Amino acid sequence: MEGKADLHMHTIHSDGTLTPGELVRRGKSAGLTTISITDHDNVGGIDEAKAIGDELDVDVIAGVELSAAVNEQDIHILGYFVDTKNQDLLDHLAFFRYERKKRAERIVDKLNNLKVPLKLESVLEQAGNGSVGRPHIANALLEEGLTETYNEAFLKYIGFGKPAYEKKYRVSPEAAIRLISSAGGLSFIAHPGNSLDEKVILELINEGVDGIEVIHPSHSPERTAYYNGIVNEYFLLASGGSDFHGGKKNDHEVFGKYYITEVQVDIMRRRLQRA
Ligand code: AMP
Ligand code: ZN
Ligand code: FE
Ligand code: FE
Repeated sequence: MEGKADLHMHTIHSDGTLTPGELVRRGKSAGLTTISITDHDNVGGIDEAKAIGDELDVDVIAGVELSAAVNEQDIHILGYFVDTKNQDLLDHLAFFRYERKKRAERIVDKLNNLKVPLKLESVLEQAGNGSVGRPHIANALLEEGLTETYNEAFLKYIGFGKPAYEKKYRVSPEAAIRLISSAGGLSFIAHPGNSLDEKVILELINEGVDGIEVIHPSHSPERTAYYNGIVNEYFLLASGGSDFHGGKKNDHEVFGKYYITEVQVDIMRRRLQRA
């Protein structure tokens, strides 16, 4: 069972720039045999990805990335193999997206108060039908010439602690884990290397998280080894991927380079059957 599985990718259904179909095609060219589309708070891209995946013989795992928080600390939770028709899941995701839109409005208000004349319409245009996020605001600022670079938007205005920062609506990790598992999926702590301390990771393990995303562009080889150690110690599953978004984030170099093996994906499928 050879092959490469990138289980973390974003499309236009959240803050990525490719359509699900384009992403699957590009994955095929890069030698990926399995991918998971993990848009923020949205499973709207899965059907299209699966259809193209069937044509090209690329396995597509239904995924989603949820935003949770513990003591103000951001924790992203990935869900894989979720039932994309599960009504409770769909209702929650619709609510999270509604909250994202309201937060975008608050950010635009703050920017306007700072005499940055960004219009909400430009932000919503960037987001299309996808979940609105700060990357769309950064893109809109850039396109309207209100900042000179994408990163400047975060550094000057919308990054954590900056004057137009606004918190996102976030659930507890426990609620995110429960939502994913009741929709038939497996839950993973996303890119813990960005900030999470071990105490929080152990709490999430106690709350029933199924695995950890050990492979991620933000993880050093030492971090990856450290998370693999935790995975082995607690009989968890290991995941990984590129967290590819494309576009102005300019992360094209990660595509096809961050992946787990098909054997690891198979272990996930077996864990699912036993649940
Ligand atoms: P949101 O989910 O709306 O809070 O947006 C989070 C996304 O914004 C992250 O996934 C990053 O892509 C991007 N982001 C957050 N902080 C920064 C930063 N300081 N510089 C560049 N991009 C950032
Ligand atoms: Zn994103
Ligand atoms: Fe994330
Ligand atoms: Fe992500």
